[in-house]
Amino acid sequence: MKVLSINAGSSSLKFQMYEMPEEEVLISGRFERIGLDKAFYTIKYNGDKIQKEAELKNHGVCVEILINELLENKVIESLDEIKAVGHRIVHGGDKYSESVVIDKDVIKTIEDLSSLAPLHNPANLMGVKAFMKKIPNAVQVACFDTAFHQTMKEDRYLYAVPYDWYKKDGVRKYGFHGMSHRYVSERLSELVDKDYSNVIVCHIGNGGSISLVRDGKCVDTSMGFTPNAGIIMGSRCGDIDYSIIPYIAKKRGLSLEEIDTILNKESGMLGTSEISSDFRDIDEEIAKKNKQAIMAHYLFVNSIVNYIARYYVELNGRIDAIAFTAGVGENAPHVRRMVIDRLSCLGFKIDREKNDAIRFGKEGLVSAVDSKIPVYVIPTDEEVMIARDTYRLSNCE
Ligand code: ADP
Repeated sequence: MKVLSINAGSSSLKFQMYEMPEEEVLISGRFERIGLDKAFYTIKYNGDKIQKEAELKNHGVCVEILINELLENKVIESLDEIKAVGHRIVHGGDKYSESVVIDKDVIKTIEDLSSLAPLHNPANLMGVKAFMKKIPNAVQVACFDTAFHQTMKEDRYLYAVPYDWYKKDGVRKYGFHGMSHRYVSERLSELVDKDYSNVIVCHIGNGGSISLVRDGKCVDTSMGFTPNAGIIMGSRCGDIDYSIIPYIAKKRGLSLEEIDTILNKESGMLGTSEISSDFRDIDEEIAKKNKQAIMAHYLFVNSIVNYIARYYVELNGRIDAIAFTAGVGENAPHVRRMVIDRLSCLGFKIDREKNDAIRFGKEGLVSAVDSKIPVYVIPTDEEVMIARDTYRLSNCE
């Protein structure tokens, strides 16, 4: 059965088509600069990667092109072969603790939740609506970034603000990157070969979050009400003292919106290093002994160490494994080494050789044999999680 896995943003749409349940990727690609000039799309198929320029007026046009490409490349003979489409939806609020088949009510709820994710939910819905129009017979499934974290208890997700803010306006920790945390924690449990496991998942990419997962259920996670909380990220500040906001607003005459943009897009590694939000650029500067790059790097590592140590202590050290994933976690051995070295007092120990060898999509153990806790690198695969849920739910229809 053919299943499409879709991740639609405001100006991009990523797709992957699977043969399920084999989980074989048949074709994948992305549309970029939707609604803008110089729009283009790339497709990976049969080991080839092609890039084409196209006028991508809206998401509907992308779906049109995507389907033509599927037919032209003979991935499908007819549209009826696409039985189900799974969509990544950023915010499911506290309404959804798992993926669901999309109907009118679900669309309405996702729309209502847009106040919590004004940039993401409307963009995700554009993708949903475009596919519903073009392939009305396919089952459409919503897979929420927040759903996996809905198992957090009140004493984890509440902030110490008036309770009324939570009750009336939904101010609480939601957590994000749920599909990734779920994928990696499930894989980690397989690797440690235990039915019940306590694991820490470090998803460190341009955005980053760390989760504590017990028996497959999220206990706590570093992102909060928005993805801007937790560890330092490429351009997001992570946890800060909120009082900075009114202080800097007054001092510089900035509006709340302007500060919000700065804390999301001009802070984190970019803000502290004044070089880039991309760790590769910062690494280049570190190699040249750029002091500010080195400082930014330490600050970043500190924020990761703090979360791992906190979760470790909270479970009295009963952690079965930890895993690194996403752009930095999978490809930057020196970050993993610095983090693990800092945790040596807890019995963590890196195997330098193994650690240096695991990059670019490889999975494996990077800790030493005498490390108290095994440390793995597990390349994340949010798309396959979407395809799995979509396949499962469409078979229940
Ligand atoms: P997101 O999905 O949050 O946009 P990714 O998980 O794709 O991010 O991670 C992208 C980031 O990973 C890049 O911005 C870069 O900082 C980092 N990255 C990718 N490759 C490397 C590498 N070889 N060394 C260091 N950092 C890398």
